[in-house]
Amino acid sequence: MATPAPRIPGRRFLHSPGPTPLPEAVLHAMAVQPMDLGDPRVDANIAACEQGLQRLLQTRADVFLYAANGHGAWEAVAVNVAAPGQAVLVPGSGHFSASWAEQTEALGIRVQRTPWHEGRPIDPEAVEQALREDRAQAIRAVFAVHTDTASGCTSDLAAIRRAIDAARHPALLVADVVASLAAAPFAMDALGVDVALGASQKGLMCPPGLCFTAVNARALAQAVANPAPRYYWDWVRRRGELSYRKFCGTPPQNLMFGLEAAIGLIEREGLAEVQARHARLAGAVWAAVEGWREGGALGFLTPEAAHRAVSVTTITVPPGLDVEALRTTARERFQVAMAGGLGPQTGRAFRIGHLGDCNPAMVLGAIAGIEAALRVHGVPLGEGGTRRAVQALAA
Ligand SMILES: *Cc1c(COP(=O)(O)O)cnc(C)c1O
Repeated sequence: MATPAPRIPGRRFLHSPGPTPLPEAVLHAMAVQPMDLGDPRVDANIAACEQGLQRLLQTRADVFLYAANGHGAWEAVAVNVAAPGQAVLVPGSGHFSASWAEQTEALGIRVQRTPWHEGRPIDPEAVEQALREDRAQAIRAVFAVHTDTASGCTSDLAAIRRAIDAARHPALLVADVVASLAAAPFAMDALGVDVALGASQKGLMCPPGLCFTAVNARALAQAVANPAPRYYWDWVRRRGELSYRKFCGTPPQNLMFGLEAAIGLIEREGLAEVQARHARLAGAVWAAVEGWREGGALGFLTPEAAHRAVSVTTITVPPGLDVEALRTTARERFQVAMAGGLGPQTGRAFRIGHLGDCNPAMVLGAIAGIEAALRVHGVPLGEGGTRRAVQALAA
């Protein structure tokens, strides 16, 4: 018989920027037997999730849900808005824009990129210039990542909208809000976003496995006219009232019950308060990092506080520090699970998630546990990292 895993006393703190911790109410909502597809509760739950997401996104756009992770939503958008050989523009935000561009290109779609600079938001001027240079107006859409989860940097979607308008270009504006929804302010219709996409396991406080796209009339019309071969992801095919059709098969019922509960929790707290809480908790994490970095070893990957994401903070480490060993110490000895660096930051940074179901005590516990792990690994730290987080929250 395999040796049972040792018991973890207390609770392990999950501070990755997705998956994020599940509220008890979400866990309980999912602990139900599946239902036959004719059960009216199934349709009522789907309608509640669609309408709830519309309220969180602040849109009247149609919501299409998929049994898939965020990469599924990326693919859904790509195959609906562009055909192989057609072009989209992916403005550089960081590792996530690079990955989305690569996936889109693998589908035969031509991808134009603007450069990205680590820890800097999307440059709206580069977007405007690329669109102006597209005299034939062949670019079908602009794929913008709102919060780049690798660098912990949030871009200004209103500025990107203005750039598209200034270039007088008809391209759709697509926003990836996987890491920002229910954390940073986002109002799809007011921002002039044509398509928004998200996933369940970040600010929405659900397990991974569900994603969605919200699609306005202009984007839907482009999908109707798009000759690209597709089936599972097809927005047109998913329209209609039958739940079996909405999901192109069986809905992931238990995840959907969790999502309905999670939306209820966000609305009970109030979306504006949820966003304010994220800003407060992020401020506490930044205060701690300000203290730590006075030791001369650590730094913010996103130097400008105004650009930093309220969901996740990326912290650079000195060469020679083994980030994986640091994460293991933090997780196994101090019960704080955090994320590593991605893309060019692999082995050069760690990330503290402060996204979703999070409160001051959790953030203080995480900061203190990470500080302890940093000390175990001999990282020179300024004094008072954790104390500064306490002071930020007490202020
Ligand atoms: C996590 C994330 C994704 C990908 O989601 P998966 O569920 O891991 O496929 C896409 N975009 C952003 C901004 C993300 O943070």
